[in-house]
Amino acid sequence: MQITFHGKTALVTGAGSGIGAAIALALAKAGARVAVQDIALDKAQAVAATITAAGGAALALAGDVSVAAEVEGLVAKTVAWGGGLHLLVNNAGIGGPSAPTGDYPLDGWDKVIGVNLNGVFYGLRFGIPAMLAAGGGAIVNIASILGSVGFANAPAYVAAKHAVVGLTKNAGMEYATQGIRVNAIGPAFIDTPLLAGLDEAARNWLISLHPAGRMGTSEEVAALTLFLLSDQASFITGSYHLVDGGYTAK
Ligand code: NAP
Repeated sequence: MQITFHGKTALVTGAGSGIGAAIALALAKAGARVAVQDIALDKAQAVAATITAAGGAALALAGDVSVAAEVEGLVAKTVAWGGGLHLLVNNAGIGGPSAPTGDYPLDGWDKVIGVNLNGVFYGLRFGIPAMLAAGGGAIVNIASILGSVGFANAPAYVAAKHAVVGLTKNAGMEYATQGIRVNAIGPAFIDTPLLAGLDEAARNWLISLHPAGRMGTSEEVAALTLFLLSDQASFITGSYHLVDGGYTAK
């Protein structure tokens, strides 16, 4: 059965790049009006322009998801433009510094928790009331495989992603009878600009961690996201779904 979102308005954070851009493009292709949000307006505008050039409806929004008032404003602008909020993807995220826990930079901790955890909470905090007002909807939080296993030298990222999985379970339970489903996705390493700083040896090492023998693509994460947002996932809420090429099966 084909997934369609005609008549629905979506907000995707961090959608100017990588996984978020692939999700925004796929949602628009499936008929949704898409608010494309990123910290950099030009990146959001480029993705929105691709959508409108293909005949879709898109709104480019800039903002920092780690600032509560900005997320409140993003939701309000999306509702004003799209007539409601039906689909929300809390995707914006950063990698943060690489260091063991005992040496981890304090400002790096605050930054990663601010974007990767607080940003998701603010999305839920302001998105859920808007979704209730629209008569219901579906939310996907982009966590990571590092929402269920550790990764040396990434304590803030691992802690934030584990917390996103917990937050997803809580929100999923709370709104299960009110027409809002909330799920999390755990991608393994996905070939996006987030990994752009890696040298070839580091990339090959990361690839070797995946039984599939490669990293994933943003489109493979988008496919699972669209399924979870769709009515085909009508009995799926409060849960965490891997797209990891076998990474966590080892
Ligand atoms: P990406 O290509 O770097 O895209 C993320 C986008 O979010 C970037 O445009 C980024 O801008 C933006 N952003 C950063 N901070 C923001 C903020 N405070 N407010 C709004 N937007 C902000 O990364 P990606 O790989 O697509 O990652 C997307 C999500 O998937 C993240 O939550 C990430 O943790 C998760 N994930 C990624 C992987 C992977 O291997 N790539 C694996 C598992 C999970 P800047 O470029 O300026 O930072």
